[in-house]
Amino acid sequence: MDKNSILKIYGTDFKEMTMLLLKEMHADALIRNKCGRSGLIGIKPNLVSPSLPEMGATTHPEIIAGIIEYLKENSFSNLIMLEGSWVGDKTSDAYELCGYRELSENYGVPFIDLQNDSYTKIHCKDEEINICDTALKLDFLINVPVLKGHCQTRVTCALKNLKGLLPSFEKRRFHSMGLHRPIALLNSIIRQDLIITDNICGDPDFEDGGNPVIRNCIMASTDPVLTDAYACSLMHIDTADVPYITMSEALGTGSADILKADIKILRETSEWKDCELPYPDRVVSVSDMVEEVDSCSACYGYLIPALDMLKNEGLLSQLDEKICIGQGYRGKTGRLGIGNCTCGFDYNVKGCPPTEQEIYEQLKAFILSHSDKA
Ligand code: SF4
Repeated sequence: MDKNSILKIYGTDFKEMTMLLLKEMHADALIRNKCGRSGLIGIKPNLVSPSLPEMGATTHPEIIAGIIEYLKENSFSNLIMLEGSWVGDKTSDAYELCGYRELSENYGVPFIDLQNDSYTKIHCKDEEINICDTALKLDFLINVPVLKGHCQTRVTCALKNLKGLLPSFEKRRFHSMGLHRPIALLNSIIRQDLIITDNICGDPDFEDGGNPVIRNCIMASTDPVLTDAYACSLMHIDTADVPYITMSEALGTGSADILKADIKILRETSEWKDCELPYPDRVVSVSDMVEEVDSCSACYGYLIPALDMLKNEGLLSQLDEKICIGQGYRGKTGRLGIGNCTCGFDYNVKGCPPTEQEIYEQLKAFILSHSDKA
């Protein structure tokens, strides 16, 4: 398969669709050429949080089943699945809820919870990045991201999905480093060999899902930069507005030039055809209320849907304070803050991170108490 190829398939039998894609791209030859038949193959889904795949945040297990069956049929048996959920949730909960225990038991493929893994510091450019040891041992990496929106980086797909290969403290540190450059550096250390993108029903607004948009599409590619640039085009986002993509291109991880992409549709159905995603707008409409400095994905990812609920109840317009969130507010004072990083603020929603429900309830109480006084 050429580096500039992107294969797409539409339908509802996700396991069969995945196997067809792998066959079409001659994945067996790709793997054999890189690491023979006995190399360690890692399959990396997105299990950001315990959220069912149909809610638009996590990788459908049927895709992973298709990958495993294809690999076994082609005599590859040294396989693992590996993932570490975002800060604030347990991978083990997502593993149970999203059907990965069944996958692991039915196919005899171990699932490595990277929240419990050891890690090693890797030097890259002028930075040091801590990466889980299991990820560093892989001979071939199959990345299986969900194409979806992200409150901070706007889009998340192949490049950002590798953040799940970090220990939790490093995920937090990435946010304090501004996210984009460390993501690009991480992708220059860990090379993804094959990408199967779950574009079945990703949420175009929130990384944590909740508002899925059904597309029933799976995509296959080998260049993560091209994959993410193409994901941007599908979501009406300018690639230049997602700096980790252009930074990754500058570091030699791949090409962001989608004009040179060779996009082939393997199969459409009468119901499911190639088309763009709707414009993501819900984050933009509430994020004006927020002053964010280096917040973790989970913290910000819980705040935005909480604000969306308040907006739908007509309460958000009654709030005349900016809401502060993020590690940049540690040790500082202010009026209204989210998470333990803003514990010095007059009114603070405690937690690290606080849940969506906690934020919603406490902000609602704040708004109502202040409108009472008005
Ligand atoms: S409170 Fe601070 S450290 Fe904790 S999740 Fe939120 S931003 Fe991150």
